[in-house]
Amino acid sequence: MNILKDKFGRTFPYIRMSITDVCNFKCGYCLPNGYQVDKNDTRKFLHLEEIRRLSKCFSLLGVNKIRITGGEPTVRKDFFDIIKVLKFDSGIDNIAITTNGYHLDKKAKLLSSSGLTGINISIDSLNQEIFKNITGHDRLPEILRGIKILQDIDFENIKINAVLLNGINSSYKDFNEWSKFIEKNKVDFRYIELMRTGDNLEYFNKYHVSSKIFKEYLIHNKWIYQTFGKDAGPSLNYINPKFKGRFGIIAPYSKDFCKSCNRLRITSRADLRLCLFGNTGINLRHLLQRDDQLNELKDLILSQMQFKKESHYLELGDTGSTKNLSKTGG
Ligand code: SAM
Ligand code: SF4
Repeated sequence: MNILKDKFGRTFPYIRMSITDVCNFKCGYCLPNGYQVDKNDTRKFLHLEEIRRLSKCFSLLGVNKIRITGGEPTVRKDFFDIIKVLKFDSGIDNIAITTNGYHLDKKAKLLSSSGLTGINISIDSLNQEIFKNITGHDRLPEILRGIKILQDIDFENIKINAVLLNGINSSYKDFNEWSKFIEKNKVDFRYIELMRTGDNLEYFNKYHVSSKIFKEYLIHNKWIYQTFGKDAGPSLNYINPKFKGRFGIIAPYSKDFCKSCNRLRITSRADLRLCLFGNTGINLRHLLQRDDQLNELKDLILSQMQFKKESHYLELGDTGSTKNLSKTGG
């Protein structure tokens, strides 16, 4: 079987696919002015049939996990049709989404019964006011209600991500809030270090802080570092037997972050991105138009693997073409 492998020996069983750039939130680090139409890129977002062909192709290339992201993926009217196609027509076992949790209380049951195997929900703070200030929306209660509903129907794989922001959600008080939360809730909570993108330099300079502060907190509170298998990806995970949930850290600026990279990305307009950052990657759309293009598509994707770079070079300030993460599918 062909598998996706680069010249540094890394394999890629995991795809992140953005299905829209549109988002209904205004997170300060991502889309502070809300979603704006890109007048320079009038290409349409991937349509259902293109998604079906692409996911099938990745399945034949050894991919066993796909995460749907955006923008906010759930704003697409055919969102549940997309999940259905991935679930029943792609051959890929693990189908997950990343969402801002908008209307999660209303959608939780449907999400669970759609066959999703994982949900990542972004919650930057458990404080309603801080949440509102970061995202521009007072929606924390509906998101927490949605999580409760998911748990009540035994949805297993819930992850919560927060972007670590200096002086906003980075104190021991904030960490303790999350600690109390995961003591009783079986979720993986991870802090992601703020990444610099083309659009957010000022915000980055103001709010970036190293995730070492959270690591120190975990060590101080006797959390135990847990190693995972080789497909685990770049999150550093910590357990504590007294807690139902786990803590994690995603630290893109750390020295070895890219060594464990196991994913490729597809933008909402069918560009293959070999890295969240950087300019490498080509458009695949011309080979997504008919089922009989499958072999050609496979060959094209395989041929691109040689161009994947060893590192994102973010530490050198190179953000490539990534203006904000809603564009590349964070
Ligand atoms: N709208 C969905 C959401 O917010 O979960 C999915 C897309 S969003 C781009 C995916 C993830 O990227 C979110 O967890 C968000 O917090 C994170 N993110 C966005 N911009 C970021 C940045 N500059 N640095 C670190 N994480 C970022
Ligand atoms: Fe929207 Fe997600 Fe970006 Fe926030 S991080 S603005 S929810 S795409």
